[in-house]
Amino acid sequence: MALVNDIKIWSRELGFQAICIADAHADMSAVESGLFKWLEQGCHGDMDYMAKHGTKRTRPAELEPGTQRILSVCMNYAPPHVKNSWDVIRSGTGAFISRYALGRDYHKVVRARLQKLADRMTAQIGTFQYRVFSDSAPVMEVAWAQKAGLGWRGKHTLLLNRQAGSMFFLGEMYVDLPLPVDEETGNYCGSCTRCIDICPTQAITAPYRLDARRCISYLTIEMKDSIPESLRPLIGNRVYGCDDCQLVCPWNKYAHITQEADFHVRNGLDDVSLVELFGWDQATFEAKLAGSAIRRIGYKQWLRNIAVGLGNAPYSNDIVRALQGRADDASELVREHVQWALQQQHQKRTSNQE
Ligand code: SF4
Repeated sequence: MALVNDIKIWSRELGFQAICIADAHADMSAVESGLFKWLEQGCHGDMDYMAKHGTKRTRPAELEPGTQRILSVCMNYAPPHVKNSWDVIRSGTGAFISRYALGRDYHKVVRARLQKLADRMTAQIGTFQYRVFSDSAPVMEVAWAQKAGLGWRGKHTLLLNRQAGSMFFLGEMYVDLPLPVDEETGNYCGSCTRCIDICPTQAITAPYRLDARRCISYLTIEMKDSIPESLRPLIGNRVYGCDDCQLVCPWNKYAHITQEADFHVRNGLDDVSLVELFGWDQATFEAKLAGSAIRRIGYKQWLRNIAVGLGNAPYSNDIVRALQGRADDASELVREHVQWALQQQHQKRTSNQE
């Protein structure tokens, strides 16, 4: 169909590396039952929005009546000239921020490009019904991307593509057009278990099963309250998200550097110390992270995460001084984590002296 060829060409021109099409009526019963079991077991933690939309995630017509097809797209995000992730993680004193969050917030970028794609389609065929998403509505985006043939769901639960690994954002367009659909790909994880073995908190409790309550991305981004003490030492210096399962994945040797200037590193966030970030006042936080996904977690949660990182860092007078400077913070959440971090530093100092 000529329109599909045009859509594929336009999507590449708009900066998507791939686009595949799924039938909105495809059998999602296994995905749906897996989702409900996961919810029943409470693996979603405080992410109430995961539970509140019922079957809308797996039944597109319940979200957008008339949907016939799902166009699934991906956009690479790995930034160029970035400090080696393992060097940051192993430094102990550097702050590790997930590679996807080092630049501008992807939600707007991906959605705006999908809108441009829809505009081109409209110019070609006239008005049709559509809706675009990027992690912005109850859509099982990995499952739909898999159905569309964009890749397979790896044992770490992220989408993997043989040509691009997993370091890309996903987006979707629901359309009421009966376009030809693409075929699903195979699963190429094989006997590998690297992501399961490396996970600092053992959050991948079985292949293809993530207990979000243990996942560092959940703990540092989604969870608003106090981080469970038992998990804090395992977080290390990861202050916003965690990439370990992706960093060890052999398929990420095929990950490509992004073509998007918006995803390049801003404010040196790939190579910055915990102490420096902890010194930011709220105005600095708001200014430096304007347009970044990180700003969504808010200043208190940001300080909470960095306090945990400082507690896990090797003992230093600078760190203790930085923590003491926030011992009387207005936020109970921050004070409690600072207190914990000071105790950790104190214990390290004592054991260094023994
Ligand atoms: S690390 Fe191995 S098991 Fe995990 S997603 Fe990658 S290939 Fe699959």
